[in-house]
Amino acid sequence: MTDTGWQARWRRWRRHLPQPSATVRLAWGMLSLTLSLILLLDLMLGIFPSEQQRLRAVREREALSLALQVRVLLTQPQGEQLLVRLLEDLARTSDDIESVGVRRTDGELVAASQAHAALWHRRGDLRSTLDAVNVPLRSPAGLWGTLEIRYREDAVTGWRGWLGGPLMSLLLGVAGLGAVVYYFYLRRMLQHLDPSQAIPDRVRAAFDALTEGLLVLDDRHRIMLVNAAFQQLYPASDSWMGRPIAELGWLRDALAASARPAPWLEAMRTGQPVLGVRLDLPAEGGARHVLMNCAAITDGHGTARGCLVTLDDVTDLDRANTRLRQALSELETSHVQIQRQNVELEQLANHDPMTGCLNRRAFYARAERHFGQARRFATPLACIMTDIDKFKSFNDTYGHAVGDQVIQQVARVLKSALRADDLLCRYGGEEFCILLPATTLEDAMLVAQRMRARIEAEAGTAIENIPGLRITSSFGVCTLPERPVESLDKLIEQADAGLYAAKESGRNRVCYAPQAEPEATAVG
Ligand code: GH3
Ligand code: MG
Ligand code: MG
Repeated sequence: MTDTGWQARWRRWRRHLPQPSATVRLAWGMLSLTLSLILLLDLMLGIFPSEQQRLRAVREREALSLALQVRVLLTQPQGEQLLVRLLEDLARTSDDIESVGVRRTDGELVAASQAHAALWHRRGDLRSTLDAVNVPLRSPAGLWGTLEIRYREDAVTGWRGWLGGPLMSLLLGVAGLGAVVYYFYLRRMLQHLDPSQAIPDRVRAAFDALTEGLLVLDDRHRIMLVNAAFQQLYPASDSWMGRPIAELGWLRDALAASARPAPWLEAMRTGQPVLGVRLDLPAEGGARHVLMNCAAITDGHGTARGCLVTLDDVTDLDRANTRLRQALSELETSHVQIQRQNVELEQLANHDPMTGCLNRRAFYARAERHFGQARRFATPLACIMTDIDKFKSFNDTYGHAVGDQVIQQVARVLKSALRADDLLCRYGGEEFCILLPATTLEDAMLVAQRMRARIEAEAGTAIENIPGLRITSSFGVCTLPERPVESLDKLIEQADAGLYAAKESGRNRVCYAPQAEPEATAVG
């Protein structure tokens, strides 16, 4: 993994760690500073001698006192034997000294503890090291020889010695005690320095009265105030005081998800309010939908000194809107259904279900309008009554089901012979009434004749289960203005009289309504 990969991973991981409070972070900073200062001072001024320096001084003092004893012994008779015994006792009993010897300037060992000759490395000069100390022995005649002391290599002289040294003790002491002292001191001080104290109480009370969550940021985007509504939304928000708003991980994530720059930065940069930024924020009990508004707080020169950030929780509004939209769409669906049902109802209410022709009520309603117009504007109007000939015999011979088919086939042929404006009504069992607006007597007679011929030719053959079935109908016609009747009923009555005449004169024919004296005009 690359460096940046690790860094990103660390940043992600760190986000999940509990964030130390401002007091802890400050105390840690001060402690680090204090420890660094102690180390620096020791480095510059050498306040604390190292363990090696201290040991060397002790050994040099010890060697000098031993040299004095050696010098005294050498002036005694049999001094050399006593000296050898002294040196051997010393090497045997001391924890520190490994070997010791007295050497003349010509290099000859006068007296020495065991193995001194092998352990001692002679040097050209008489300089001492920490482990090998030389002390010159002088007589009145001058330099006589040297006392050589070989020390054991001491464990405390390495890094372990440094660890046990006074500097380390001081550092550890300051770190332990300082951490506690700094923490409590800073906690007390920060209470006095609470940034939110900069906001007057009455302003705070006014902000708390708002139903929107509100944050006040300073010029470095640090949170100076969190109002009551915001604390209700995010109970932990109390501990955000003084922290930069960008450190709030949940807000950063929500902004990253909305793929837009921080609105408070934009508002403070441009001086223009940024309104209605939609964010989905994680919260207890599910995500909340909020609208963020940011307005810069500027000084007299127009420089942004801070920012007001409000968060308007619209979750409930959103839910209500969703429910409303659902209800609306259901309403639209049911509206369409109602319209369809209305059309069906209208069809059922106005039409005969067996033939699809208008029923008498619907026919009369429409026909009255045409009759009135024809009378008012003196336009022609024709009415035709038609009845299936000897229909009863179909019922009697083939049963009612075939009788129904006969009625349906006659209705189909009548319908196909009419225009869109013409009205076709099933007037009775096998009787139909037809109204032809703006149709003259001649045209009405032609239409009736055409219908009669088509029923004779097509209706019977359409009933396939009864081959060779012959169906005919008789027609009676009456027209305005030729027969200036007062009412629609009278017109229909006259047409019915024509039908009667057609039946009387042999059926399967068209008759114009006879005058008062029954004088039928038979055609066909
Ligand atoms: P005409 O040529 O004089 O008209 O003779 P007709 O047999 O057609 O006359 P009539 O009025 O005596 O017969 C009509 C019969 O039609 C009587 C009734 O039982 C029958 N009818 C009426 N409505 C229906 C119906 O909806 N279906 C069937 N199958 N028969 C019907
Ligand atoms: Mg009839
Ligand atoms: Mg009939």
